[in-house]
Amino acid sequence: MKFSFTSLGCASALPSADRFPSAHVLNVHERLFLIDCGEGCQMLLRKWGYPFLKIDNIFISHLHGDHIFGIFGLLSTMSMMGRTSQLRIFAPAGFSEILSFFMDHFGEMLNYEIVHKSLISQDMDTIMEDRKIKISSFPLNHRVDCYGFRFDEKRPARNIHKALIDEYKLTLAEIASLKSGEDIVRENGQILENLSFTYLPYIPRSFAYCSDTAPFPGLTRFISGCDMIYHEATFGREMAETAHSTMHSTAEDAAMAANAAGATKLLIGHFSSRYKDPSILLDQAREIFPETYIAREGMTFDIPLLK
Ligand SMILES: [Zn+2]
Ligand SMILES: [Zn+2]
Repeated sequence: MKFSFTSLGCASALPSADRFPSAHVLNVHERLFLIDCGEGCQMLLRKWGYPFLKIDNIFISHLHGDHIFGIFGLLSTMSMMGRTSQLRIFAPAGFSEILSFFMDHFGEMLNYEIVHKSLISQDMDTIMEDRKIKISSFPLNHRVDCYGFRFDEKRPARNIHKALIDEYKLTLAEIASLKSGEDIVRENGQILENLSFTYLPYIPRSFAYCSDTAPFPGLTRFISGCDMIYHEATFGREMAETAHSTMHSTAEDAAMAANAAGATKLLIGHFSSRYKDPSILLDQAREIFPETYIAREGMTFDIPLLK
């Protein structure tokens, strides 16, 4: 059961020959969530083998071009590839104007419905939830309305220790009750305690996406306890003043955010084009948070299942 993140682009606003702007894929149990959609996204989805039509939900952090200029081509291509099912786009309120402009000029070609779900809350907000996952948005600290996203795997149903089924001659009704977390009191007064009869097959996993943002103390509450965090690291420590005046983070800021959140792994990206080799940013982050990695294009980072 996959829970993995792949970056398609880890550049910031200025294009470079070998680095693409923000676009990423989160695979949760073979369901693909596209996070940001910078220029070139659809070619990169092709390059790394992600089927377009498996994407039903797109998450746009904010309306800066390096996070959204790739969406128009993708929307058209999805139609040409035969999409008929609804596509949901979670994006700040201003996206509705952009979408209606697009639909006015190109909407006739589309054979499917696009629903814009507006991000408005200035606190943690559940924007999508089903049996397997809960997805929340939270505000970031950028020059424009900007949101991070948190993906929390739902707690799986408890499994029964098989040997105890025969030993205690558990009925189907008793098994169902134990799986749903209840204790059982039998007619003869015998108590079957849930914790002794069942176990959690795996520990639910979580991932948070933070781009673009200047550091702010409230972030810790939003991303606390996440296994893996993607955090922008546009600049190094020598450019801290520029980073903060443009409402971005340094590699050290990203590392401190991951540290405060108690994360297991940190992925950094959104690098300024001045860093031809971002390993200097990696080194700076690792001084604070050793489990930091560069979110290199096409490289997949799994959150392993722990029992
Ligand atoms: Zn950006
Ligand atoms: Zn931005």
